[in-house]
Amino acid sequence: MRYLILTDIHANLEALDACLDDARARRFDATLVLGDLVGYGPDPNAVIERVQSLKPIAIVRGNHDKVACGLEQAEGFNAVAKSAAHWTFEVMTPEYRDWLAALPEGPHEVDDLVEICHGSPFDEDAYIFDELDAVRALKVSGRPLCLFGHTHYPVTFQLSAEALDSFGPSGAAESHVRMQPGVKYLINPGSVGQPRDGDPRAAYAIVDVDRRCVELLRLKYPVEETQAKVIAAGLPEVLAQRLAVGR
Ligand code: ZN
Repeated sequence: MRYLILTDIHANLEALDACLDDARARRFDATLVLGDLVGYGPDPNAVIERVQSLKPIAIVRGNHDKVACGLEQAEGFNAVAKSAAHWTFEVMTPEYRDWLAALPEGPHEVDDLVEICHGSPFDEDAYIFDELDAVRALKVSGRPLCLFGHTHYPVTFQLSAEALDSFGPSGAAESHVRMQPGVKYLINPGSVGQPRDGDPRAAYAIVDVDRRCVELLRLKYPVEETQAKVIAAGLPEVLAQRLAVGR
């Protein structure tokens, strides 16, 4: 079984399509989605349509999904995120708003190996940045591999009886985490549609359950096309600029 892992797509259709083309060439059997399908980007309806067509076997909501569909207020959002959330609410079809509003809260245990969440397994909206957050998450997680998103920053934490280790983005187009027995893993594959690690390439992952291997992938997509759509939609210009620098 090979799972395609998508998180923080943020209505970026060009980045999503690039990931899907790449993933199809590598083959996958089922899709897991870790939330924030919309918000910031110019294509909320098309992105939801694409995700629905993948028939994910597990999906959890993100904080932007909750605000964009009207389930929660934009408290805690900065001015740019707030304005993008309002724009998204206006352009989304009522059917897609309802569909987003019905997405379940994480965490969700997918099988004996994998659990998914948006922010963390102890709070769907909490950010995992440092090792303190990671240890708390690893202790709460009920599976050997917990996949998360929300920070848009690719990172692997691994906890053995001896130590906690962490590995940031390698810069490689492809890197593999081979899971060892007795070690717990907490992995953020990075954001499909709005990377924030200084690398503008789209990020996603494939989990090979039988080989117990997580394939972390980065790939270029036509950023200029997405930027032009952001501007044409009247979304804040900074949302176009940040895509080119991955911040
Ligand atoms: Zn996000």
